[in-house]
Amino acid sequence: MKLVWSPKYDVDLFGHVFPVEKYRLIRQEVIERGIVGEEDFVEAGPATEADMMLVHTREYVDDLVNLRATPRTMRSEMALTREIADAYVAAAGGTIEASGRALSDGVCVHIGGGYHHAFPNHAEGFCYLNDVAIAIAKLKKAGAANRVCVIDCDLHQGNGTAVIFARDPAVFTFSIHQEWNYPPKERSDLDIGLPDGADDRLYLKELEVIGGILDRHEPDIAFYLAGADPYIGDKLGGLAVTMPGLKKRDIFIFEACAARDIPVCVVLAGGYAEDVRDVVEIHVTTIAEAARAKGAGS
Ligand SMILES: [Zn+2]
Repeated sequence: MKLVWSPKYDVDLFGHVFPVEKYRLIRQEVIERGIVGEEDFVEAGPATEADMMLVHTREYVDDLVNLRATPRTMRSEMALTREIADAYVAAAGGTIEASGRALSDGVCVHIGGGYHHAFPNHAEGFCYLNDVAIAIAKLKKAGAANRVCVIDCDLHQGNGTAVIFARDPAVFTFSIHQEWNYPPKERSDLDIGLPDGADDRLYLKELEVIGGILDRHEPDIAFYLAGADPYIGDKLGGLAVTMPGLKKRDIFIFEACAARDIPVCVVLAGGYAEDVRDVVEIHVTTIAEAARAKGAGS
């Protein structure tokens, strides 16, 4: 299984809570555990401005690439430096690359991406570019895929993605998230807003709707946002899903897609446990299960 990754993701966020070092640590860990080899890592080229403008407005892309502090860029909670902007442009390129490889290989993981709070005309949260939306728009434009399901399992609602595809019936947006948390909710095709403290049992039970969604929508590809923040030890989250529960989530998603021959592009999205090693462990488990699903399918 190929993994898309870039050293550009490991940027200085000036003390921001987003643990960008997780990307480097995950890469080390999956190699050390023998899940993949060094040769399985692919570095993608950056997204072009034309790619970004498949989803984002010209004004906003212009502000972003020129590092201008405007109401459009300042909705982000992050600083805007050359390095940070480049990291988001690289990550959008990474998800484009991973989506193409998912179509050809059945499964591909991007060790990055999942910046689902970015809107067409402004940044939000920790997200400057909606990499998943850009990759979907690019696949559709190329005719490589038309029908798409977004399975967003980050703790936070995929509000930007919901808005971007609100009027596109070919893209089904599903989000399972903590209801009483950031962001103000937009409307996905299906939202499951979980109560505070939702545990493995409730989480995995609610997830079962995925099978029916895939049967009805019949996507050419699924994008799985495998957020680590539903974890019980998350600093920003208020759900109570355990590590074994998150592993069951991964297995469920991969099996649901494999049973229907649906390629899966995995992106990591959020994760803010006190100890970054917990975030790494959750993401590494997702990658191990993706590799296992790939092995079973080929
Ligand atoms: Zn999140």
